[in-house]
Amino acid sequence: MLDTCGREVRTLRLSVTEACDLRCRYCMPGGVTLLRGAPLTAGEIMAIAQGAAKLGINKIRLTGGEPLIRNDIVEICEGISRIAGIASLCITTNGTRLAGLAPALAGAGVQRLNLSLDSLDESRYRSLTRGGELATVLAGLEAALAAGFERIKINCVLIGGVNDSEIEAFVALTVRWPVDVRFIELMPMGECTGWPPERFMHAEEVLQRCPMLAPIDAEGVAARYRLPGARGAVGLIRPMSHAFCGECDRIRITADGMLKPCLHSGTEINLRGLAGDALLQALAQGIGEKPTSHHLESGHSDTDRRMNQIGG
Ligand code: SAM
Ligand code: SF4
Repeated sequence: MLDTCGREVRTLRLSVTEACDLRCRYCMPGGVTLLRGAPLTAGEIMAIAQGAAKLGINKIRLTGGEPLIRNDIVEICEGISRIAGIASLCITTNGTRLAGLAPALAGAGVQRLNLSLDSLDESRYRSLTRGGELATVLAGLEAALAAGFERIKINCVLIGGVNDSEIEAFVALTVRWPVDVRFIELMPMGECTGWPPERFMHAEEVLQRCPMLAPIDAEGVAARYRLPGARGAVGLIRPMSHAFCGECDRIRITADGMLKPCLHSGTEINLRGLAGDALLQALAQGIGEKPTSHHLESGHSDTDRRMNQIGG
């Protein structure tokens, strides 16, 4: 289905929980956090995914919070991958439970995996995530590589003065493994809204540090480069320095059942409790209402949700 700006909306980012087993400093506060509402049930998720497919969505990415902490995540994936019209099912995960779950997820029809990893240094990773163990995530990555996913991408959020010294080490992963590494500009929302300007680096810096990277193409919102002989590509995702709203083909649904036409907009459309035509109408309204662009350059997002409450 086309939105009012003529963009064909094909992708749904569906959050299955806002809870998480990590507490990344830019994403979540430390300590216990209250949930906004009960997460969608597996049945509600299926109904939404089926409705979205009827409106032309052909790619679904499950996210959170941490999607793999749901006990029914494999069943949810099996159900979604069987929906007619859904050509691609992906998951974005922090990787803490991947070592055990990778084969089951691949068997349930998940084709692609995005693994979030912001440091390859054990103690920095522990500090950034407030307690995460790097070795567990790397074991998850190895399990994912063995499980036969079509594609694996490692997402690294660039944080100036924190992990930018690791740019070269992340780029080198594309030589070692058949994975893409994507550097994402930190966006001022939730926990990191008030962080000092030097934390918000331009991803262009990656090209300065690794001049051997040669441009290959643009894939969705990522500009892609490659090192000579590398097995994977390096992507730059630049929501801060390069507005890419014209290429945005996605809607988002939060774990408490609110459709967000844009990540950074405050507009939300309730889907909870809707079924049949009413659900389809609300989904179509959300697609139609995608705003032309966001206004991140003003220094903050217009949504009052943290990223774990939307899904990235
Ligand atoms: N827990 C899963 C994970 O970390 O992959 C899925 C949810 S997480 C909210 C999705 C992505 O959003 C992660 O790659 C995370 O690094 C990114 N993210 C969170 N807050 C961000 C921010 N302020 N700016 C840019 N990316 C952010
Ligand atoms: Fe959890 Fe993902 Fe947010 Fe980190 S980025 S706190 S792993 S939801």
